[in-house]
Amino acid sequence: MASLIEGRTGSWEVVIGLEVHAQVTSNAKLFSGASAAYGAAPNSQVSFVDAAMPGMLPVINRYCVEQAIKTGLGIEAKVENYSVFDRKNYFYADLPQGYQISQFKQPVVSGGTLVLDLPDGETKRVAVTRLHLEQDAGKSLHDQHATQTYVDLNRSGVALMEIVSEPEMRSAEEAAAYLRKLRSILRYLGTCDGNMEEGSMRCDANVSVRRPGEGLGTRCEIKNVNSIRFVAQAIDYEARRQIEVLEEGGTIRQETRLFDSNRGVTRTMRSKEEAHDYRYFPDPDLLPLEISDDWIERVRASMPELPDAREARYVGEFGLSRYDAQVLVAEKETAVYFEAVAEGRDAKLAANWVTSDLFGALNKLGVGIEDSPIKASSLGGLIDLISDGTISGKIAKDVFQLMLETGQEAKAIVEERGLRQVTDTGAIEAAIDAVLAANADKVAEYRSGKDKLFGFFVGQIMKATGGKANPAALNDLLRAKLSG
Ligand code: ADP
Ligand code: MG
Repeated sequence: MASLIEGRTGSWEVVIGLEVHAQVTSNAKLFSGASAAYGAAPNSQVSFVDAAMPGMLPVINRYCVEQAIKTGLGIEAKVENYSVFDRKNYFYADLPQGYQISQFKQPVVSGGTLVLDLPDGETKRVAVTRLHLEQDAGKSLHDQHATQTYVDLNRSGVALMEIVSEPEMRSAEEAAAYLRKLRSILRYLGTCDGNMEEGSMRCDANVSVRRPGEGLGTRCEIKNVNSIRFVAQAIDYEARRQIEVLEEGGTIRQETRLFDSNRGVTRTMRSKEEAHDYRYFPDPDLLPLEISDDWIERVRASMPELPDAREARYVGEFGLSRYDAQVLVAEKETAVYFEAVAEGRDAKLAANWVTSDLFGALNKLGVGIEDSPIKASSLGGLIDLISDGTISGKIAKDVFQLMLETGQEAKAIVEERGLRQVTDTGAIEAAIDAVLAANADKVAEYRSGKDKLFGFFVGQIMKATGGKANPAALNDLLRAKLSG
């Protein structure tokens, strides 16, 4: 599925590789016991290690390593038995060590795969090159003082997983789908909260363009974009910019660019010539990281069911459409909610109620499914009333609204307001007789061939019964009466 961009001089193909920094969900930092919680007062979560006091030694946090193993297994990658921590040297005010501890030549995870769910219902597999563990830097605060910059070291030393893809994406949509799937898996695993606004998941997008069939073009890297929508916008802008430069006979300089989300453009941050030489070397304070097969297998045994497997199960077991299944599995909370509703019920009916009525209501209220005013068990109760014929699907919509407004259970609403469906054929017949008697002219017209009037009669009878007549019974009885 080639998605080419038409330039003035012909078609171009966009090539994208993504580097994602995902903050490891963990109470403590990668090499110290200081808290990694977000939003604390500046410099309140800084150990001597994080502040790089002389003589302090890093000690690896076993839990962070386990989170990396879990993530590696979640993206179908190889967890390495042996990996090495290196020093990546550079000078910056918010990096008190003067280097970042990272993994360079021998990362803890290599060679994974992500399955992208594309808008047209297609899927595409994208290779993940590697995942390595590294420390985050502190944060420079430029907005606290007119002429001075403050430094907050709370983030210094927090564990990150850098997850690097092969340059296999071909459009902004594919890049967005990659980020959505990665975020979904991280959240299912509980290894990163995926919150891009708070910076716990950050993305660098590498973009180049080429004529179809040619080798890779020179890339530009757009740094630290903080929402999936902005990543897509940045890629679209950047691809068009590069095409314009090339079509005017120019060349692309390899450089790092920033995305300005207010103006929707990317601009130069630094060129390759100014790029750092990090002088990586193995950190002498840390032993190589050795992970036993036994440990890997124990983690594997504790893995939750991930979105792709769940999607396949919803399609296979429940008979849902791929699209509905995708929507339901994308967020773990939604999948858990849906499964609670579907348990022991008609799964397709449950899927419909969750994806259309409930999602619509939550959207309007601006709340997530975890704060839904209608709990899964209550929505299940409503569906039970439809399935056992107590109310029609149409009345159920009204009951749903009332559930939202009052917080009452479906059953109580139906009883209190007398919304129980009339299945008593005597009562329906009486209503039919009354309507037909009052519309003798239309009955004659119907009998002489004006079939369309059937719907008119149904409407009138439904009105007469307050919408409570069982639709199937009504149809049968009415048809019999009209033909008799
Ligand atoms: P660096 O370490 O300089 O960032 P890497 O080789 O690790 O370079 O690549 C970083 C990212 O750039 C990877 O996600 C990779 O897929 C992507 N990439 C490499 N070459 C290209 C290219 N020509 N066009 C688009 N993306 C590319
Ligand atoms: Mg890079």
